[in-house]
Amino acid sequence: MFHEAASSAGQVRLTTPPVFMYHSISPSGGPDPHRLRVHPDRLDRHLRLLRRLGLRGVSLSELLRAQERREAHRLVGLTFDDGYTDYLEHALPVLQHHGMTSTLYVVAGRLGGTNEWDEAPRLDLVDADQVRAVAAAGQEIGSHTMTHPHLPRAGASALLEEISGSREVLQDVLQSAVPGFCYPYGEFDDAAREAVRAAGYDHGCVIGDYAPGDRFTLPRCYISPRDTSAHLVARMARHSLRLGLRGRL
Ligand SMILES: [Zn+2]
Repeated sequence: MFHEAASSAGQVRLTTPPVFMYHSISPSGGPDPHRLRVHPDRLDRHLRLLRRLGLRGVSLSELLRAQERREAHRLVGLTFDDGYTDYLEHALPVLQHHGMTSTLYVVAGRLGGTNEWDEAPRLDLVDADQVRAVAAAGQEIGSHTMTHPHLPRAGASALLEEISGSREVLQDVLQSAVPGFCYPYGEFDDAAREAVRAAGYDHGCVIGDYAPGDRFTLPRCYISPRDTSAHLVARMARHSLRLGLRGRL
């Protein structure tokens, strides 16, 4: 079933477990000025660490469903922004090896294109068939707008096109509900948040691990290309401390 309306829980501040934010997963040694690329071996070490700690990485929808059942305390959210094709080649095998799921946030108006919203280097984005392949592999697809714009102060028609329009495109591609939205650059304002709710999404996520968000502004931890296991433990511990979560680490 689609979640067509926000529940009253949409207004509640959630104390969700940490949610990691990755972008490109690739062994490429090329320039990475935006610090978006994590080596697959490093992703493997990160997921290995989670297992050692008795934690499991899951998609954001799975995390929130578990949260509603109060069964999320041994889970961590795994998200990958922008929908780079290297997800299929380099992230998916690692996720599958560790039996974990994730959410891939794709830019619905740029399927089969490149990340033209960034300066070089250009990176390839998944096309519609690849979106379906990701979903068929048991991973979640979420929306990251149509064109990856800055949403704050965008006009009402732009918000509708970017937020509601992208959901329609992806639901058409997948022939199933798309419950998750991810704000480009983590940027949002009240109008953007309301547009996400009104478009029928179940939840939305931002960037930052300080303030606990509500269902439409869920916080995430940026994972840098150089993050070691110690960095991850520190990020999770800080997140738990800020939110008053107990007994995680
Ligand atoms: Zn992005």
